[in-house]
Order: sequence, then structure tokens, then C-alpha cells
Amino acid sequence: MSTEAVSNLKPGDILDNQGLRDTFGCSPQGGMRRSHETNTLVIVSNHVVSIYDDRWIDDVLHYTGMGSTGDQSLEFAQNKTLTNSNDNGVAVHLFEVFVDREYTYIGQVHLSGEPYFESQNDIEGSLRNVCVFPLKITGDIKPTLPKAYVEQAFTTKLKQAYRLSDEELERRATSSKRKPGTRSTSSLQHERDPWVTAHAKRRAGGVCQLCKEPAPFMNRQGEPYLEVHHIVWLAKGGEDTPENTVALCPNCHRKMHIVNSKDDVEVLLGACKL
Ligand SMILES: [Zn+2]
Ligand SMILES: [Zn+2]
Repeated sequence: MSTEAVSNLKPGDILDNQGLRDTFGCSPQGGMRRSHETNTLVIVSNHVVSIYDDRWIDDVLHYTGMGSTGDQSLEFAQNKTLTNSNDNGVAVHLFEVFVDREYTYIGQVHLSGEPYFESQNDIEGSLRNVCVFPLKITGDIKPTLPKAYVEQAFTTKLKQAYRLSDEELERRATSSKRKPGTRSTSSLQHERDPWVTAHAKRRAGGVCQLCKEPAPFMNRQGEPYLEVHHIVWLAKGGEDTPENTVALCPNCHRKMHIVNSKDDVEVLLGACKL
């Protein structure tokens, strides 16, 4: 481990826990990991298994400090290191976890404002005061994150939200940041054949091939509105061919992506053979 390994890291690099230890010489656990060997503080914003409500607002990460029960303190352990990090010479490096055990390197960060307090639930579900550190990426390079990762983080939060009490959900929803932040993401786009798409729509003749009802509305050109669906999803290696495409009403299309029942798939396979 050396400061060289640290400076070779690029935003978007993904490390496992061992890689994190090897690079920084930090402890193998915790959300804030101080290393004296590389004079760094590694901080982890975990979107998978964390009680902390970290969030990006514009280009500032509002990062929750250490301490899983009771009120947190700026004097406590690495909260203190982070509080003083603009003056103490400790380089702060941020990782985010979108997928269990995968640490995505975001970059070196610095405090962009005074730490402040807010109330969040502790591990037992009772409200307490936590320290929140506003952090900004120091360099110019921001990582481009896989779109699926960012969506995964949203889904994880959504699951937590469904479990909250009515009061707590109301409290969080009404104190939301109003203007959504943005993150730069990349996704793998399948290039689809326009002939196949047009063919599937024409073959359907304005009728959904699952529920057999006419399209629910006309588009601006006065054509029946249907959506083309791949019976074996492209993401799962399905082919972009007439044998694998059908035209569906938006309702049935959604149903196929949410439920994808065997019976419905059978119906669609049959419709393709006509
Ligand atoms: Zn339908
Ligand atoms: Zn589809």
C-alpha cells in the first residue's frame, strides 16, 4: 500500500473490501476509515445496507457522520477527523456502494461548508441528532455511474420508505429537497431494428396482442398507440426479430415487465406465429 496506489485511482473504479484495504491501508469495516499509513480518511456512503440518509443536492453530498445509536458528536472519532479535514492534512476519499460489497470510487472530497445537525432515525428506529457533512468533489472529474447502479440505490431507499410509519414518511416527504439532484450515468443501449418494430406494429393491426383490446388512444398522427415488446427481453439475450416481438397496449406492456407470467408469455409466443 502506498500513496501511489491512492493517486492511481480513477473516479468510477470499483474496489472490493480487500482492494480498499490494499490501496489505503485502512480498516476493513466501518463507514469512515482512517489510515495513518496513507494519511487518508476513506468514507463510504452505502446505499445498500445503511441506516444513514446520505444524499446529493446539486454537487454536494450531505454525508451522515459516525455513530449508530444516540446523538452523534463532532468530537467523536472520525467525525472529528472529517470536521478538521480542511486543515489537518488528511486527504478524504469518497466511495459509494450501490451493489453489496462493491465500492465505487467517487473521488477526493473536501468540506464545502460547516457540518450541521439534523434528526434521523438510529439503528433502533428512534429519532436522534446526527452530524451532516457537506462534501464536494475536489477535482474536475466526476464519475459516470452505471444507470442500473443509481436505479438500484433508489429501489433500496424505496423499500426502506415503504417500511416507515405514516408520520415518519410524511416528515421525510415534506422535507424533501424539492429540486432533484442530477448524476451522470451511462447505460448500455440496445440498437433495435426499425423494420422489426414497424412490422410488429403493423401485424398487430391496432390491437394489443395480449389483452386483444384496441389501442387505448391514438397518437398525434392519429395512429393506434401500441408499444413494441421483446418476448425474451433484449437484456436477457432475446433477439430483435419478428418471432420475438409483439405490440402491446401500455398496460399489458407494463404487466409483462413487472410480472412476465408464463401464461402471458405463451399467449405472446402464439400471437407471433400468426
Ligand atoms: Zn393489452
Ligand atoms: Zn417490453
